[in-house]
Amino acid sequence: MTTWDVLVVGAGPAGSACSKWLAERGLGVCIVAPPRSGIRAGESLPGAAYPLLRDLGLLAALQQSYACPCHGNLSAWGSEDLVCTDFIRDPNGMGWHLEREGFDLALHQAALASGAVHEPFRIETVRRDGGLWQVGLSDGRILSSRFLVEASGRSSIIARRLRVPRHQDTPLVALYAWGQDRGQDQRSLVESASVGWWYSASVPGNRRVLGLHVQREFAAHIQRKPQLWAQQLAMTRYMREWCDANSDWTELQAYAAGGAYLERFGGEQWLAIGDAALAMEPLSSQGLFNALYTGLRGAQAIAASLRGNMVLHADYCSRLQHVRQAYLRHTCLFYAAESRWPDQPFWKERHTQSLVMLNQQQDSSMTLNETMPHRTSQTEVLSTP
Ligand SMILES: Cc1cc2nc3c(=O)[nH]c(=O)nc-3n(C[C@H](O)[C@H](O)[C@H](O)COP(=O)(O)OP(=O)(O)OC[C@H]3O[C@@H](n4cnc5c(N)ncnc54)[C@H](O)[C@@H]3O)c2cc1C
Repeated sequence: MTTWDVLVVGAGPAGSACSKWLAERGLGVCIVAPPRSGIRAGESLPGAAYPLLRDLGLLAALQQSYACPCHGNLSAWGSEDLVCTDFIRDPNGMGWHLEREGFDLALHQAALASGAVHEPFRIETVRRDGGLWQVGLSDGRILSSRFLVEASGRSSIIARRLRVPRHQDTPLVALYAWGQDRGQDQRSLVESASVGWWYSASVPGNRRVLGLHVQREFAAHIQRKPQLWAQQLAMTRYMREWCDANSDWTELQAYAAGGAYLERFGGEQWLAIGDAALAMEPLSSQGLFNALYTGLRGAQAIAASLRGNMVLHADYCSRLQHVRQAYLRHTCLFYAAESRWPDQPFWKERHTQSLVMLNQQQDSSMTLNETMPHRTSQTEVLSTP
């Protein structure tokens, strides 16, 4: 049986970035992930991702996903005023709206072109034996490796098999639909509402995505009665101008979108990256950045660990703790900045959680200017060392 240097479980942006970096350095890398199905949400890529993509040799992936430039964000949050954040004032420059399936595929192909091998199966069992990992696939085979990477996204299959607790923040469900873009503004739009918050952006191929983020119970209610979606849209001030409820939208897709994190980001010869390690609410627009960042930093820590140097491994885990704290602080302050519906269940739950979390934080010295939910303005959380 072949023993791989590194087995990467997951072929999302985190798994692909990590695999590419390791394979390029001559390590034997096997990616295990079932073929992708279904439409993917998550198309806003902040400008700060550019240097990461460049360092990973993945700029071509942006072109292959027909990324459209995004020059700013508009948000109506905390008041009816529409506030614009123009990326011209952002040191990271403009962001992009991606064709997400194409982006993920381009990253995956780049990893394969660097020498990684793909096994298109699910992981079923994981055990450690004689200093090696033995991983059982859904086709019945067992693969062996020296190092194991948990990159399976929110399903965090490896962490579950290793019995590492995964903590969930307040649940959030995102209901997304895609329709035709009728040439509206290319900027993203975020608008809060009494039941949660809306988001819309143009995506490549003259399409537009429209998302509503709500509590789990309300999402289930809308799924049972889809006409509620149009009713809620009609109550918005800006979103309804951009997204006509009567035009041809796809069926609603529901995604778990709340924050979550692993109690430990790694251990003996294993490491978690991307959403598996730390999942963030879409309000932050940091998921892809986090996936690329942890993919790169995780790969560097893994290469060092395989040479017997554990310093980067420890450093990686402590950095992720800081990222999680900064993410929490930003998210709580964003929610605190919307006070128009204090008695509505969505906002009541968010405000209560925010107060608890902010009280737990030692450093909450942020100004409210930093708290507007521009959906791509938080990247400094991860970019600061
Ligand atoms: C509604 C919504 C909107 C979002 N919007 C944005 C946005 O605008 N901008 C942004 O930056 N981020 C956004 N995100 C977050 C972003 O999509 C994620 O952070 C990103 O996809 C994480 O990448 P990943 O590689 O860690 O995980 P994923 O992309 O989820 O990849 C996980 C991989 O693991 C594989 N896998 C799962 N289970 C198994 C198993 N048992 N065996 C083997 N393989 C397995 C999967 O097949 C997949 O290949 C959004 C998320 C949601 C839910």
